[in-house]
Amino acid sequence: MKNNGLLLVISGPAGAGKGSVASELIKDENIRLSISATTRAPRGKEENGREYYFYEREQFERMIEEGGFIEYAQYLENYYGTPKKPVDDWRKDGKDVILEIEVQGCEIVKKAVPDCVSIFIMPPSMEILEKRLRGRGTETEENVQRRMKRAGEELVLARNYDYVVVNDSLEDCVKNVKAIITAEKLRSERSGFEI
Ligand code: 5GP
Repeated sequence: MKNNGLLLVISGPAGAGKGSVASELIKDENIRLSISATTRAPRGKEENGREYYFYEREQFERMIEEGGFIEYAQYLENYYGTPKKPVDDWRKDGKDVILEIEVQGCEIVKKAVPDCVSIFIMPPSMEILEKRLRGRGTETEENVQRRMKRAGEELVLARNYDYVVVNDSLEDCVKNVKAIITAEKLRSERSGFEI
């Protein structure tokens, strides 16, 4: 496993800015972003195969049975899951792979891939989080309320992550995540030296 790319798990409440952080990180051609499958409906300009693979419930459940996911979880009333094959192929090819997933999924990945690196993206405050969620303009009022409630539950779990990075300025946040990646690659157990 020594030359495999890193598996980075990035979580944080909806609106914390995980997507923006990931978009910056994948400008490095050595980093790939896993595309999840979900049963939720496309939002705004989302396209199948770009932001998500949009599956019917039966299709998703079939893939669970076939063992096609590294992890999957229910968030609000929809399924979300990480397809296994592309992640395995990229890592074997030495690429670092980002999973942008919620907290239950992270727990499963940690058990399946103990050397994964988990990062929790923390919003500067709940007020700013709510403002960002509303600013998307794609969420109904009911959805904003449900996502805010869920965010409160998720924040408590930040302690279970290897790192917590506050996303106040996107630039600083990305700089900090890149520093984590650099440090993780220099860990003695990943060095390839028999030390
Ligand atoms: P959204 O509906 O806002 O795109 O995503 C809702 C939540 O599901 C977010 O916290 C997002 O990170 C998470 N999520 C997206 N893909 C996956 C996945 O493959 N697995 C898990 N466990 N969570 C995911």
